[in-house]
Amino acid sequence: MSSSASYVDLLIVGAGPAGLAAACWAAQYQMSTRIIDQKGNRTETGHADGIQSRTLEILESFGIVDPILRQGIHDVDMAHWVTNNGTGNIERHKRFEADSGQRSRYGQIMLNQGAVEQVFVDYLVSKNVYVERHKVAESLHLLSDDGDDTQQFPVIVGARGVEKYEKDTIHARYLIACDGAHSWVRNQLDVPADEVSEASTWGVLDIVPITDFRLYNHPIGRRLVRHYRPHERVFIVGDAAHTHSPKGGQGMNISIQDSYNLIWKLGAVITNGAEPTILETYETERRPVAKQLMDLDSRLVQAYEEEENDNSSGIYEVREQYAGFMAGVDVTVLRVTDRGGSLCFRVIYANRRGWKLWSVLQTPSAEPLT
Ligand SMILES: Cc1cc2nc3c(=O)[nH]c(=O)nc-3n(C[C@H](O)[C@H](O)[C@H](O)COP(=O)(O)OP(=O)(O)OC[C@H]3O[C@@H](n4cnc5c(N)ncnc54)[C@H](O)[C@@H]3O)c2cc1C
Repeated sequence: MSSSASYVDLLIVGAGPAGLAAACWAAQYQMSTRIIDQKGNRTETGHADGIQSRTLEILESFGIVDPILRQGIHDVDMAHWVTNNGTGNIERHKRFEADSGQRSRYGQIMLNQGAVEQVFVDYLVSKNVYVERHKVAESLHLLSDDGDDTQQFPVIVGARGVEKYEKDTIHARYLIACDGAHSWVRNQLDVPADEVSEASTWGVLDIVPITDFRLYNHPIGRRLVRHYRPHERVFIVGDAAHTHSPKGGQGMNISIQDSYNLIWKLGAVITNGAEPTILETYETERRPVAKQLMDLDSRLVQAYEEEENDNSSGIYEVREQYAGFMAGVDVTVLRVTDRGGSLCFRVIYANRRGWKLWSVLQTPSAEPLT
């Protein structure tokens, strides 16, 4: 058995959409980053396939929206099918137009998660960043530090090769937990979460139906961690922080957007001497988004169930009400806060009919805002 040790600015555990987006952002900075995943490959089939306007804008900012637009399906409709109690047949009950792009330069498109991950991977390769696959994180030690001395490496992660039994000790300044719904990092740190289980059970089909099929059901649950930053040097991102049903088609999008919010701040702290206090804004900005996502999910589950029973138009109403949120471009605030002497713009997003700020905000800058 061989063993090795290394020192890096950033260690990302998990190479799903959140981890890959984090690595893409980190590649913009002069800092060392490693990204590991226990799986041997990217997602092959299934999972997410709806890409929001805001996620497309983010991809554009990396210069990688074109391959997504080329492969994706535009002009998406959604249909709701229910059982006709008279005939016993499953019939189309309602049809909704997906977001058509009124709120952003991009409307929603459909493309499977694996293809999106591949576009991220190709971008990383062009930056000489390689996902270390078949490598599982299995021990975590956090040395005490004063939190502000960014020169230290207080995070020590023990990783192991899944195929070859190689041990790797990774000393990092910061750890980003992008390790999904069953997050290993979250469990190691015993991060409390608010959890809700619905009484109902739902199934997901992700198929091209050419013959009979079997449907497996799953209970609906929602989880939102109480702390996005359980330690000064550890951040929880994506499904590791929030899980919910796939009804709203939001998980991959919100996960990518979490990374987008966090990594430029870390880059500014690690490479440009920005005050670490800016890192607090990751939780204050992103946890409310996840809370809204939990509300949306709960309302959608309820609306689907009601519609099944009484033919009401609840689903449409909920979708209308959350349309801006679901496109990722809801109106929020533009504020300026003065934190510890450094001026930090907290632009969440703004977009209102006739007041389209997106063209100003579209391109991220790797430069610190000072
Ligand atoms: C059926 C279904 C349909 C969905 N539909 C949509 C949709 O339409 N739109 C949408 O936006 N979202 C959808 N989602 C949700 C979406 O798939 C997730 O939100 C998204 O994958 C979350 O990304 P992530 O990077 O946070 O986590 P994940 O994609 O789960 O990635 C976590 C990664 O961490 C790795 N990992 C875990 N532990 C370790 C460890 N100890 N060491 C090393 N690696 C580790 C895993 O191997 C994995 O690759 C759907 C999900 C499902 C299941």
